[in-house]
Amino acid sequence: MCGIVAYIGPRDAYPLLMKGLHRLEYRGYDSAGVCLLNDDLRVFKCKGKVSDLEDFVAGSDVSGNIGMAHTRWATHGEPNTINAHPHLSQNKTLAIIHNGIIENYTVLRSELKNRGYTFTSDTDTEVLVHLIEDIMINEHVSVEEAVRVALNEVIGAYAIVILAKDFPDKIIAARKGSPMVIGVGKDEFFIASDATPIIEYTNNVVYLNDEEIAIIERDHEIQIRTILNQKQTPYIEKLAMSLGEIEKGGFDHFMLKEIYEQPHSIYDSMRGRLHVDQGIVTLGGIRDWEQKILNAKRIIITACGTSWHAGLVGEYLIEDFARIPVEVEYSSEFRYRNPVLGEDDVVIAISQSGETADTLAAIELAKSKGATVLGICNVVGSSIARATHAGIYTHAGPEIGVASTKAFTAQVAVLTLLGLLLAQKKGTISQTEFQKILIELDRIPAKVQQILELSQKIKDIATIYKDVKNSLYLGRGYNFPVALEGALKLKEISYIHAEGYPAAEMKHGPIALIDELMPVVFIATRRGIYEKVITNIEEVKARKGRIIAIVTEGDETVKALADHWIEIPDTLEALIPLLATIPLQLLSYHIAVMLNRNVDQPRNLAKSVTVE
Ligand code: GLU
Repeated sequence: MCGIVAYIGPRDAYPLLMKGLHRLEYRGYDSAGVCLLNDDLRVFKCKGKVSDLEDFVAGSDVSGNIGMAHTRWATHGEPNTINAHPHLSQNKTLAIIHNGIIENYTVLRSELKNRGYTFTSDTDTEVLVHLIEDIMINEHVSVEEAVRVALNEVIGAYAIVILAKDFPDKIIAARKGSPMVIGVGKDEFFIASDATPIIEYTNNVVYLNDEEIAIIERDHEIQIRTILNQKQTPYIEKLAMSLGEIEKGGFDHFMLKEIYEQPHSIYDSMRGRLHVDQGIVTLGGIRDWEQKILNAKRIIITACGTSWHAGLVGEYLIEDFARIPVEVEYSSEFRYRNPVLGEDDVVIAISQSGETADTLAAIELAKSKGATVLGICNVVGSSIARATHAGIYTHAGPEIGVASTKAFTAQVAVLTLLGLLLAQKKGTISQTEFQKILIELDRIPAKVQQILELSQKIKDIATIYKDVKNSLYLGRGYNFPVALEGALKLKEISYIHAEGYPAAEMKHGPIALIDELMPVVFIATRRGIYEKVITNIEEVKARKGRIIAIVTEGDETVKALADHWIEIPDTLEALIPLLATIPLQLLSYHIAVMLNRNVDQPRNLAKSVTVE
């Protein structure tokens, strides 16, 4: 949510900040702004995308080698120019950019109003910049001390960067609950919400921890203090990411590139973990916690959005293979509903970015109740990776498209490995069955590649259905979460209403929606409860619904019933989600492109949901 980038060093800040904002734009894109510090704080901001900001700024003086920029995903106040960041303090001596939510902003705002402060925006952010200025004036303290005092009064989440007119060689950055990383170059520093704007210049980074304030000064080492004024030693880490991974590489959209990366990303998520020759699975990140998981009374998977769908597949897999009870929870519900949790529970938090605010809160809750908490996330060094006792990285590479694709399949691959590992250690699976699954899992990347070659056929189907207003996605067993994920993909990038349902549940409501205009996507592969799904297809057909079926190669029965079909290679029932999801991603992608939607940055959405 929202992208922050700042720079101090010998280079021209403006072009670097704009390039950084473009790289971060997937995080939020309703408005954008930039502030350059020379003798004065020069702020330019406008509604719209980063390119609108560039047009707006064209011709202005943007010189200077210290500055900061922001792309916003509004939480408080309309997405308009006034509410865009940066925000200036009353005396225009300070400028702020912020990611997160100041929850007690109403109280702070009325106190500041009583003290004569005038607010120009509707944002929660503006209170913070006035508050810091107020503290500087009244307590005669440095800007960093004023930031520290102010942050002690704030309830909520923040990643902030502050520039001060009177300190032209200094940047103050702080975080709590929202990510922030500092790139350390030779004589220069880069500050950003994630590493994507930094990687081009340096791979030495410092991840700021919660409640830490960084004082970044020209020709000085970074200083870090906590909001309780304890000095911290900055820990410089090496970034594993490469520049090529965050560029489009010839594809029209990041989403398409990421769909096509899946043979590799699934392979990478299993590399060094799936040992077909030795007949074992290893997961180094949780090795020391294996016994705890094996003895768990139950496993609770907590996640949001697409990761929640991966969690559902995980539930089926772990119960099926390892016979450990699993529950899957929306993090946003779990964190507030007073769940029964204790030391015998293992909680698995899933998040691509590793920054999802609700999932982080769910982790804290679980830890406070004594549960063991594991993470499955994609971004190395992310908040979830650090907040959990142990975890498994998905190794899918950076995912830039807002609609998650390769992160989902990588999460499912990792959950499959986890289910298998637990099953083998628990003895709930025969070695013959285990080996059969390992061999088949090893073949999955090649089978995904085969499905990607169907893109043209899927595009032809998309042409027929692109103008529909509603659609249903139905599946049973392992294909039920696939149906949910297929429907989510369609609605988030094409804005067509889509519902995912267990196929048999259709009779309890959604069947009322079916008429000759309603396309129904059936994930009707030939394993599991196949015959029953055929009955469900007949029920839709009897009501004149139009059927698009995902079928197993060579299946003539479903093909004969469907208006359109997409054939995918056969695999074991438990592994079908890794294949059946791919054509649904492509179907959504092609429809959205035909409708001229912004596929990588769908309206109202943002990646890495760091606010509640
Ligand atoms: N709460 C702030 C606002 O609405 C920041 C939102 C964001 O993270 O982009 O302006």
